[in-house]
Amino acid sequence: VPELPEVETVRRGLLPLLAGRRIEAVEVLRDRPLRRQPAGPAAFAAAVAGAAVTTVERRGKYLWWVLDGAPVDALVAHLGMSGQFRVHDRAGPAPDYRGHERVRFLLDDGRALSFVDQRTFGWLLADRLVAGPAGPVPAAVAHVALDPLDPQFDAAATAQAMRRRRTELKRALLDQTLVSGIGNIYADEALWRVRRHGRTPVQTLGQAAARAVLDAAAEVMRTALAAGGTSFDPLYVNVNGESGWFARDLAAYGREGLPCRRCGAGIVRESFMNRSSYRCRRCQRTPRGLAGR
Ligand SMILES: [Zn+2]
Repeated sequence: VPELPEVETVRRGLLPLLAGRRIEAVEVLRDRPLRRQPAGPAAFAAAVAGAAVTTVERRGKYLWWVLDGAPVDALVAHLGMSGQFRVHDRAGPAPDYRGHERVRFLLDDGRALSFVDQRTFGWLLADRLVAGPAGPVPAAVAHVALDPLDPQFDAAATAQAMRRRRTELKRALLDQTLVSGIGNIYADEALWRVRRHGRTPVQTLGQAAARAVLDAAAEVMRTALAAGGTSFDPLYVNVNGESGWFARDLAAYGREGLPCRRCGAGIVRESFMNRSSYRCRRCQRTPRGLAGR
């Protein structure tokens, strides 16, 4: 599943390809990615065709192309589980996307940008921009809080807001209305770094401790972004959900039964919110009162 660093890598790949380009035409090969368009796939194509792309922005795992000269202001993209953007020169042979190409954008520089999705959870939406506290944002993204890599992200204020919730720490980290872009993997890695159990009640955390978890999440995502960026080919705007960083540097996630890299005790896997959580049984002890639950 592409997480924030992978989505940011895609944004950085798309930006030089799209900024200043005009979308000459839109070919809808499969309707499924346009299921969120209220007026349907044809309306999506009509709204976007002819638009010029001014920039590509991101919040959490949502990407959007800012459009000029179109009836809509933005094209929002969510990669879901396996969405990719792939580019090719229309003068050359068309790549073999094995039947997974969904929507194709014909650009005014002779290239074609394809939205390819092996599974079908990704989606595209022609949307309007609305005013938000951190600037204009697509209406479909307005409910999403800033992510820790956003220059306007306020870690102190977010830590304060988090401590006022009546919830558990990992649940808070995954709550997109509090802080966006921290997925299951990054939450586990951040919790390992600060030696906290995911089920710690947030109201028991001091301000410094709450802030430390958010800082750890930002740090672990920056590290992943730096690693993902090194192997990135801008002509192959690709997300396969696993950068090389995952295999090398994960400390907790996916390491069930392996020794903790800090203390040597075993990493345990537990079910949490229908997914797996990983923690060190010694460094990240179960909070008092929750043992056995
Ligand atoms: Zn440990």
